[in-house]
Amino acid sequence: MSGRTPTVCPYCAVGCGFYITPNGMEYMQDHPVNEGSLCPKGNAALDVLNHVERLRYPMMRVGDDWIRVSWSEALDRVAEEMLRALREGGPGALAFLGSAKCTNEENYIFQKIARLMGTNSIDNSARRCHSPTIIALREMLGTPATTNPISDLALSDCIFVIGSNLAENHPVVARWILRAKDRGAAVIVADPRVTPTAWLADIHLQLNPGTDIALINCMIHVILSEGLEDRSFIRERTRGFEELDVSDYTPEMVSSMTGLGAGDIIR
Ligand code: SF4
Repeated sequence: MSGRTPTVCPYCAVGCGFYITPNGMEYMQDHPVNEGSLCPKGNAALDVLNHVERLRYPMMRVGDDWIRVSWSEALDRVAEEMLRALREGGPGALAFLGSAKCTNEENYIFQKIARLMGTNSIDNSARRCHSPTIIALREMLGTPATTNPISDLALSDCIFVIGSNLAENHPVVARWILRAKDRGAAVIVADPRVTPTAWLADIHLQLNPGTDIALINCMIHVILSEGLEDRSFIRERTRGFEELDVSDYTPEMVSSMTGLGAGDIIR
């Protein structure tokens, strides 16, 4: 290999970029998400490639043993098995399991193969962990993915974090939050635990586990009772507002559920 090849860190959905070079890796200073930085996981991305136990050639199971085979032998066997399954059971006999560690482009090509073979049995582990967010995001935003660049976080004046420990899980996102803080943004973190994300917070709402929805409903209650809602946004950009009923979620009631002070919720 000569020169350097741009690639994406496989360890989380933040999608930090870096280059692979003949000698290792090089930071991608002009990448819009990470601007040359990587978290410890990204910095260790090549450890897998260079690991002594990395599989470097195809292996085939023979009885209880694994034997080394050539690439053409392995690919012929794969084709044979797929054709046999197709002949005997039709496209429904085939299943394709991709990986969240692959790039979008790799998974895209992978589903192309599945469709070419006539099956829609294709999945990967991301669906399991991401499916609740897919449902919620699609209902709320119309698309099951982030609708803005991560760097937009730096332009926010107030950031409310709930259900996330991004400082540990997605550290490069935390960089953008720190940049917002440098501009004077307030950061509110709702989490029962004192996480590294909570360390970033100006206000840490250390609520009881399982009371997130009650907290949100109460915040809506306060916003509506104090007339702080953006009426034109609600009119133009939302549906079903009339059906929203959070009248029971008073700060006093939710304070006893969440363990938070009523004044903290109102603040
Ligand atoms: S935040 Fe870390 S793990 Fe996630 S993509 Fe960036 S370098 Fe990789």
